[in-house]
Amino acid sequence: MSEPTLYEKSVPGRTALRLPELDVPEAPLPQELVREGLNLPELSQLDVVRHYQTLCERSFGVDSGFYPLGSCTMKYNPRVGEAVARLPGFANAHPLQPVEQVQPLLVLMFDLQTWLAEIGGFAGVSLQPAAGAQGELTALLMMRAYHEARGEGARSQVLIPDSAHGTNPASTTMAGLSVLELPSDERGNIRLDALRAACDESVVGLMITNPNTLGLFEQQIEEVIALVHACGGLVYGDGANMNALAGVLRPGDLGIDLMHYNLHKTFSTPHGGGGPGSGPLGAAPALVDYLPGPVVEHDARSYRFATPAKSIGRMCTYHGNFAMWVRAWAYIALHGAAGLRKNSLHAVLNANYLRVRLHDRYRVPYDRINMHEFVCRGDVGAEGSGLGAADVCKRLIDHGIHPPTQQFPLIVEQSLMIEPTECESRETLDAFVSAMLEIEREAREQPELLREAPHAGPVRRLDEVAAARRRILRDAAGLEEEKA
Ligand SMILES: *Cc1c(COP(=O)(O)O)cnc(C)c1O
Repeated sequence: MSEPTLYEKSVPGRTALRLPELDVPEAPLPQELVREGLNLPELSQLDVVRHYQTLCERSFGVDSGFYPLGSCTMKYNPRVGEAVARLPGFANAHPLQPVEQVQPLLVLMFDLQTWLAEIGGFAGVSLQPAAGAQGELTALLMMRAYHEARGEGARSQVLIPDSAHGTNPASTTMAGLSVLELPSDERGNIRLDALRAACDESVVGLMITNPNTLGLFEQQIEEVIALVHACGGLVYGDGANMNALAGVLRPGDLGIDLMHYNLHKTFSTPHGGGGPGSGPLGAAPALVDYLPGPVVEHDARSYRFATPAKSIGRMCTYHGNFAMWVRAWAYIALHGAAGLRKNSLHAVLNANYLRVRLHDRYRVPYDRINMHEFVCRGDVGAEGSGLGAADVCKRLIDHGIHPPTQQFPLIVEQSLMIEPTECESRETLDAFVSAMLEIEREAREQPELLREAPHAGPVRRLDEVAAARRRILRDAAGLEEEKA
C-alpha cells in the first residue's frame, strides 16, 4: 500500500525544469561545489506535484477534520494569520538587517512581549524559546541562576506531579537537576501532605501544569504555591493548557514565577509535524533580569534589542521563529481581551459537554467539572475483552476523526485525553459523541471491528512500536532495514 518513492518513479532523462538559453560566457563551477555520482530522481514537474499532492491527501490535519488531541490544542488557525505572515516586509526580512531597517518588526515583537505578559500576569516576557519544552529548560536554567546568585546553588530537586507531561522531567534532567515525583490525590490534585514533606532547602522549584493534564483545575493552587515559596523554591507553570485560562485567569497573579506559552497551541500558530513552534517565557519581577535575550526595548525614538542584566544568554540562533509571532500577534489583535476570554470559556464548555455526554459509557476516573479537556478510559467492551484506548482510537479513524491523545497521563489506565477546542461546532461535537457511542456498542457486540480497525484509510493497523524501532529506510539503492 505504500506510495512509490520519487526514486522509484524516476525515468532517466526526464526533467522538471528547463533553464533559459545561456546569455553569459560559460564558466566552470568551483571544484568544491561539484559532487559526482549524485543519484537524484528524474521526474517531470507534474510527476512531482502529483506525488506530493497524493501524500498530502493521505495526511490528516485540523483542516481535514475533528482533531481532539488532548494537551495539544489542535485549534483552527485563522487564515488571516497566514496572510499577514506572508507579507513581504515580514517574510523577506533578514535577521542580520540593521535594526533601523526593521523597526516595524521590533514593534511587533515588543507588542507580543507586552501582550503575553499582560495575558499571563508577568513582569516581562522573552520570545526566545522555540517550543514549550525549550521554555521549560530555559526556566529551569533561570531558576538555577537565581538560586546561585543568592548563594543557594546547592538546591537540586525539582518537584513534578505524577500527572505531568514527559517534557517536565526531561527538561529537568537536561538542566542537570533531579526530579522528585509528587503523587495526585483521588480528586486529581497534588497531594498536599506529600508536597509538604518534600519542601525543604534542596528544592529548586515545582513544575506545575494548571489545569493539569487530567484537564482539572488544581483546587489548592494557592496553598501549593505558598508551600513551595515558603521553603525558598520557585514555581514554574507549564503553560501548555492556557487555552483554558487566557482572558480568564492570570497565572502570575496566583504567584507563579515563570511560565511558558505555547503559541502553537493557545495562540493558533500551526503545529504538528515537528514545528516550527514558539514557547515564549514569562517571568515575575524577581526573575525578569534572568530572561534569555535579546528582548525588545524602546524609548521615544526607536526600538532596539537588549539583553536583560543577569540573562542566562540565548536559547536559539538569531531571534527565534518570527513568522509564528506574526501569526500569534494577529490572533491576539483579532480577538482582543474579550475574544480571548470567550474562546477559553467556549473551550471549557465544549470539553464539559463531551464529558457529560460520554461519561455513562466511558469511565471518567475524576468525574468533576473539567477545564478545556478531560480524561476517560478506553477499556470498553465485555470483561476480559482486552480492548483498550488504542482500539477505540483506531476505530475513530474509520469515522474520519483524529484519535485523541492516549495512554497519557500515565496515572489513568487506558486513558483517552479529549480536547475539542473552542473552534468546533455543536454538530461536530455531536458527531464525535455518536461515533464514540457507536464504538462502545461495537466493543460489546462486535469486538473484532475494533480489534481490526482501521478498516478505511490508506493503511490498516500498524505496529507502531516496530515502526519506531525497526525503521525501513529507502533510498536510490533500494530497501534497507535498519538493524536495532
Ligand atoms: C505540548 C506540551 C508541552 C511541550 O510543548 P512543546 O511546544 O511541544 O515542546 C509541555 N507540557 C504540556 C502539558 C504539553 O501539552
